[in-house]
Amino acid sequence: MTSQPGAEPPIHDFPIATGVADFVHNIAAVRSKIAAAAERVGRSPHDVRLLPVSKTVPEERIRLAVQAGCRELGENKVQEAARKATALAELGVKWSVIGHLQTNKARDVAAFAHEFQALDSERAAAALDRRLQAAGRSLDVFVQVNTSDEPQKYGLPPEEVGAFLRALPHYSALRVRGLMTLAIFSSDTERVRACFSRLRTLRDHLRESDPDLLGDAGLSMGMSGDYEVAIEEGATCVRVGQAIFGARQVPDSHYWPGL
Ligand SMILES: *Cc1c(COP(=O)(O)O)cnc(C)c1O
Repeated sequence: MTSQPGAEPPIHDFPIATGVADFVHNIAAVRSKIAAAAERVGRSPHDVRLLPVSKTVPEERIRLAVQAGCRELGENKVQEAARKATALAELGVKWSVIGHLQTNKARDVAAFAHEFQALDSERAAAALDRRLQAAGRSLDVFVQVNTSDEPQKYGLPPEEVGAFLRALPHYSALRVRGLMTLAIFSSDTERVRACFSRLRTLRDHLRESDPDLLGDAGLSMGMSGDYEVAIEEGATCVRVGQAIFGARQVPDSHYWPGL
């Protein structure tokens, strides 16, 4: 994959935020880019939710981000999220799990998470539902779609999403909120954009075929390197880590197989 032209991941320079003022600054900068991107396509900035992503960030720095106004945080790995949710419980943060779920972690997610954005199998849906029913909780979920046709990526192939959504009402503790994707990691903006527009088109078709399938039919797409493009293509939630917290040392291949 990486030898293909345009498949090289883009280079970004994100300074590490170490004080509340850095976070205030970074969040304001991201929000103003969100607003500009929305306005370019005639959308309201209020229709785009900013989900800050705190994976690898230590708890001391998360506290500063919360002081700077972060009320919800995304984490890729369940164990890391569960540990932080416990350690920072008094802050009242809403935790969103945005990475692949192994079903043996479903109980942890059911215990602390407010949202799960990477649902892509009925096995995971069943495991989560069982644990949620037992805990008397429900959970907002996004169905993850593989829009780049990269075989190593998580997410359902677009053509399987309709059937999957039709099976979900059976799992009544799950509240479907929309679709989620990761675009291809590429410096070629048009290839990135094609992934996002594919998710939007799929959403539109599903909504037309059955308005009840997709809840409020949100689109979670866009990260530090590509959230402005995602908003131009209709994102209602952007998941932004490095542009708020600073560059990560852990390579992205730790989170996405095959990069
Ligand atoms: C880490 C992560 C993000 C955010 O990536 P950044 O480059 O830090 O903005 C978004 N979505 C998922 C699923 C992630 O794991």
